[in-house]
Amino acid sequence: LVRMHGVNKYFGSLHVLQDIDLTVDRGEVVVVIGPSGSGKSTLCRTINRLETVDSGTIELDGQPLPAEGKGLARLRADVGMVFQAFNLFAHKTVLDNVTLGPIKAKGEKKADAERHAMELLERVGVSNQVNKYPPQLSGGQQQRVAIARALAMRPKVMLFDEPTSALDPEMIKEVLDVMTALAEEGMTMVVVTHEMGFARRAAHRVVFMDEGQIVEEATPEAFFTDAQSTRAQDFLSKIL
Ligand code: ATP
Ligand code: MG
Repeated sequence: LVRMHGVNKYFGSLHVLQDIDLTVDRGEVVVVIGPSGSGKSTLCRTINRLETVDSGTIELDGQPLPAEGKGLARLRADVGMVFQAFNLFAHKTVLDNVTLGPIKAKGEKKADAERHAMELLERVGVSNQVNKYPPQLSGGQQQRVAIARALAMRPKVMLFDEPTSALDPEMIKEVLDVMTALAEEGMTMVVVTHEMGFARRAAHRVVFMDEGQIVEEATPEAFFTDAQSTRAQDFLSKIL
């Protein structure tokens, strides 16, 4: 579904993505881990073109990523993204946060968008909060609304960039549970996270990045018990 081939990106003289080859199949859950600054967020952001690349190709569903205009708007709908900071509109209700994209970007009728939003908010367990404003919710609730908002666009793939890093421990589980359910339903997902429990439980594949390179890719079982590269072994010895 997502195919990156020979992707390079520089920030000035910093070679932040180095010859990245990565394929994510339909229904696959890929967890990306690696040290701070290794390029994980940048990798995610290139997939929905929040960042451009300097060379190489990225395809979604067999098509090169569109550069601008209508195609780019469609791409942003097809690739849902959930960030560490929830990025909800503080002055809009929960329901409006979820329906805004489908109404504005996809031209859905308000009633249809609201029906779908209610379904999604039910699914992420915040359907009793629909008329509240984001600042009135806990961090875990806000992040679950952010997930519902991304799903409202009916994306082909969901990107998660450290979705639980800003949350208190008791709220991490409720967000990870929603993500695990999504994975079990067959959503294609790329997840940057330090939650190794989630990686073991939900990932089909772990991708380990260091200094802009994909150093190692393996199943979670293989990666956590028998990492091949010394860089991955070093990283794991620090976090496990
Ligand atoms: P973390 O685990 O801390 O989130 P990361 O693996 O997500 O790290 P990136 O955010 O992708 O890393 O950053 C990779 C490198 O690129 C870092 O050295 C970072 O400082 C640099 N970088 C990221 N964004 C920019 C930017 N817009 N301009 C210049 N340098 C940037
Ligand atoms: Mg990051």
